[in-house]
Amino acid sequence: MKLLSAIVPCFNEQENIFDFYDEFIKNEAFFKSSDVDFELIFVDDGSKDETVSRVKELNEKDKRVHLISFSRNFGKESAMYAGLNASKGDYVVIMDCDLQDPPALLPEMLKAITEEGYDSVATRRVNRKGEPPIRSFFARQFYKIINKMTKAEIVDGARDYRLMTRDFVNAILSMGEYNRFSKGIFGWVGFKNKWLEFENIERKKGETKWSFWKLFAYAIDGIMAFSTAPLAMASFLGVFFCIVAFLFIIIVMVRQWTVGDPNNTVGWASMVCIILFVSGVQLFCVGIVGQYLSKTYLEVKNRPLYIVKEEL
Ligand code: UDP
Ligand code: MG
Repeated sequence: MKLLSAIVPCFNEQENIFDFYDEFIKNEAFFKSSDVDFELIFVDDGSKDETVSRVKELNEKDKRVHLISFSRNFGKESAMYAGLNASKGDYVVIMDCDLQDPPALLPEMLKAITEEGYDSVATRRVNRKGEPPIRSFFARQFYKIINKMTKAEIVDGARDYRLMTRDFVNAILSMGEYNRFSKGIFGWVGFKNKWLEFENIERKKGETKWSFWKLFAYAIDGIMAFSTAPLAMASFLGVFFCIVAFLFIIIVMVRQWTVGDPNNTVGWASMVCIILFVSGVQLFCVGIVGQYLSKTYLEVKNRPLYIVKEEL
């Protein structure tokens, strides 16, 4: 008999815990028929509501339900890592608590691994129905940019909803970096991967935890985690401005030697513009270096990704 571990990161999901369980358990007959047992690991990411007590209630009824509760909110990336770390299954799936990752897809996903020989089955939504247009626009631009900049394949609309084999999970666990960007990590580890597509489903209850700026910061983190292109761009800008400056020096010297410049004093305004512009570019580039330095700083500190308060 094989074991399937389902990891469910939850942050203030009191309205969704029971609904999720009910929906998940509908697959029980299928699991039985394919000789698969399951464990359901809810990772409470420092919720302030009744999430923990509801998971405990489920655990009373059904011992296959487990809880890992963090001491505070560490973010979904940490919650996923904690779940993967605790999972014992031969197959492991990560799914959101808000039912945006339909548990009804699980049989198809499991078959792709057991019968078709894939190492992981990932899902992507084919449309962004129900999302503000401005957010969809920026999301699409982000995927275009990041795929130009990095080698890890990062797919537009990909969700974290993914079923993996033990080997795949071990590969992910071996990447213990502090600044985690799972969408990139999944692509980076390789293996044989199948994509399933489904229509976007709106969150059942509660609210999304992502504001526009949170997503924006996440996008920047993603690019920095998988690419050093911004650093190369800073060097490129430096070389570019050196060449421009050199050309200007030659032009000024040649003019001085040939026609001379009777109005040597004019040009104050353009000088100020040039100085402001170039120092702006310099600060921008120092900023990029600073961002990478700060990430390196956090990485070097080697702090734990999460702190567990309670486990069931
Ligand atoms: N989540 C989490 N920690 C956080 C934010 C979110 O564990 O800091 C969980 C959340 O409970 C949900 C999943 O991650 O199960 C996806 O979050 P959400 O639905 O807010 O994101 P969206 O689906 O809008 O991308
Ligand atoms: Mg959601």
